[in-house]
Amino acid sequence: MNHFANSLPPVIAVLPAAGIGSRMQADCPKQYLTIGQQTILEHAIHALLRHPRISQVIVAIGPDDRQFHRLPIAQDPRVRVTLGGQQRADSVMAGLQLAGDAEWVLVHDAARPCLHADDLERLLAITAHSMVGGILAAPVRDTMKRAEVGQNAISHTVERQDLWHALTPQLFPLALLKFCLQRALDEGATVTDEASALEHCGYHPLLIAGRSDNIKVTRPEDLALAAFYLTQLNH
Ligand code: C5P
Repeated sequence: MNHFANSLPPVIAVLPAAGIGSRMQADCPKQYLTIGQQTILEHAIHALLRHPRISQVIVAIGPDDRQFHRLPIAQDPRVRVTLGGQQRADSVMAGLQLAGDAEWVLVHDAARPCLHADDLERLLAITAHSMVGGILAAPVRDTMKRAEVGQNAISHTVERQDLWHALTPQLFPLALLKFCLQRALDEGATVTDEASALEHCGYHPLLIAGRSDNIKVTRPEDLALAAFYLTQLNH
């Protein structure tokens, strides 16, 4: 923690957690799978609440969710809950409606349990100099191939220079994110993360190099990897 932290504005976090995680082939949404003593969602929330600038976490859950309210974290006064929507962007929008007049908002996938405190610190530091915000991202390491449309055959190699994996958290001024997300939704843009909404409106959020172990648990094999990374984080 740097000594400027106390003078920087508090940040509200929104966690979209209304997805069903069908690629996980589990019998509950992936954010409720357990690693150690806690669900993936609880690991994700705790990683945020450990930072003193994060004053509140708003969790957007699905309409059929019967699990969230049974978690101990649901009793934490800094945690609020709202109803998510059809798409991730709708869930984020629902969370933003509860963010009041916060200056900055940070959006983090409920399915990313391995966020490192140093990455969060570096991302939050951009509020001191950016008007647009930014995201944690990891430079692409593998050679990238573009397939022929709809086929398992290579069309061509994509230059990996300047290519990044977009991760979360993503941090933006609340008013700007709300405006861009609403406009992107109204105009039918594809919005798979919050930065895409800003890009749609002509902004260029910062890329903050983050750790590649900040994985999103998506497929069954990711669970063991996330469990291993969490043991490394906690030692
Ligand atoms: O499905 P994917 O892994 O891209 O989901 C990323 C995050 O968005 C997850 O935390 C998921 O719960 C959330 N989500 C949501 N509302 C939806 C779809 C996904 O909150 N309708």
